[in-house]
Amino acid sequence: MSLKIKRNKTRPVKVGNITIGQGHPIAVQSMSATKTQDIEATLKQIRMLEENGADLIRVAIDSKKDVKALEQLRKETSARLVVDLQESYRLVKDVGPFVDKIRYNPGHLHHHEKNISVKEKVAFLVDHAGQNNCAIRIGVNFGSIDPSAKEKAENRFSAALDSAKEHVGIMDELGFENFLVSLKSSDPNDVVEINKMFASEFPHIALHLGVTEAGMLPMGEIKSRVAFENLLAIGIGDTLRVSLTLPFDEKYREILIGKKIVEDVYAGKFRSVPKFENKGMNIISCPSCSRVENEAFIELAQKVKEMTEYAKDEDVTIAVMGCRVNGPGETDDADLGLWCAPKHVNLKKGEEALGAFSYDEILPKLKIELDKIIAEKLS
Ligand code: SF4
Repeated sequence: MSLKIKRNKTRPVKVGNITIGQGHPIAVQSMSATKTQDIEATLKQIRMLEENGADLIRVAIDSKKDVKALEQLRKETSARLVVDLQESYRLVKDVGPFVDKIRYNPGHLHHHEKNISVKEKVAFLVDHAGQNNCAIRIGVNFGSIDPSAKEKAENRFSAALDSAKEHVGIMDELGFENFLVSLKSSDPNDVVEINKMFASEFPHIALHLGVTEAGMLPMGEIKSRVAFENLLAIGIGDTLRVSLTLPFDEKYREILIGKKIVEDVYAGKFRSVPKFENKGMNIISCPSCSRVENEAFIELAQKVKEMTEYAKDEDVTIAVMGCRVNGPGETDDADLGLWCAPKHVNLKKGEEALGAFSYDEILPKLKIELDKIIAEKLS
């Protein structure tokens, strides 16, 4: 059996020699997790993802040294490369010649250079992307929503949507069409709802689907599957990424799982989980990237899963994040959050910081806080 899916008539987005949107095959992508400056390791990672069918491969760029490494990588691979720019949007000028697509997060254009408007920053990005035939992704994340949109909006759905709309408006004003949008959350139900809302208002804009910090297997796959099944089946989604916390040499599984989900949806095979029942212990963890501050993060995420097994039926969310770029913000909505620095792990309860602990100390500290939350729920 195969399912007849009427895809949204999205505008085409040219990324290197492929087109995303306009009914073209759904592109499956992943991100290199190694340090970008470790050229040998990053190249190995890119080749592994490419061999497993990655249509696009993203690398993180935060410094001029990363740009130098990217230049070298470009000479060694013909893979379609995407860069992820955070606060350092000005690097677009340097990376443009070496990549096919640029991703920026509207929430990260507010932290520095406050005397320059967001619109001017986007114009800078668009100018250099255009000069180098690069596509752009406006990547909105629930965990790092533009603070001004957050202040004005009633809830995070409106804030995320307002932020995306503002940036679509800027692109329109600048006359730039080679862009797509992503609206991601660590909760698959949020991902379904927000993408439906956006697609009903902007059916012509191509969408990149993803559940952030989907975490470890098997839950990471289940969360992504729930979101993607619900959206792909109604024609929403032009490219996707499954974000899993995996050892570096297993990152290819993101591609295989992404492709399998698309294949299953088109074959009419569903898990039949219309809504993700967020019951019991929910551990979200980032997929790691070159920004990971200590590789012990991946083992830590696994240990958190094992340590909390005794409380698996408790409705508690624990977020484990690999770095300071997204760690502090993306843990705010969890009951307990851990974000990793080179020598210590920061522990949070909601938005409140509880201190920094060594990698050896953190698990007992986490257990104390988890037990307190469970006791609070009982009292
Ligand atoms: S939290 Fe940091 S290390 Fe983890 S994926 Fe995001 S940017 Fe990379």
